[in-house]
Amino acid sequence: MTLICADCELAVPRLQRDHYEPRYLHGHTDKDQSYCPVCDRPENLWYLCGTCHDRKSWFENRDAHMGNRNPLGYRHTDEARERMRQANLGRRHTSEAREKNRLAALEQWRRLKGG
Ligand SMILES: [Zn+2]
Ligand SMILES: [Zn+2]
Repeated sequence: MTLICADCELAVPRLQRDHYEPRYLHGHTDKDQSYCPVCDRPENLWYLCGTCHDRKSWFENRDAHMGNRNPLGYRHTDEARERMRQANLGRRHTSEAREKNRLAALEQWRRLKGG
């Protein structure tokens, strides 16, 4: 079965569940895996490939240590995204909600880069 990463949209054999808005923003620690009705609400869950999940986790760990409340610094560079788009051409699934998330995140990323 082929699955599509919600971020890079590559087709991958396995996806990892991730919290779009990271749990640390609500005071959870890494070791706290208990169910939370706020963080685990369906709208806050999306499914990423291993690469995107690792990347997002890395930024979130860094942001958590810096006390950064703006958690979307993990976004891909434009070039990387374009490469992935080319690689995955014809397999794109569109979703209005995902597109909205993407644009908001991209906007944040641009701001983070100071551009
Ligand atoms: Zn991905
Ligand atoms: Zn929570």
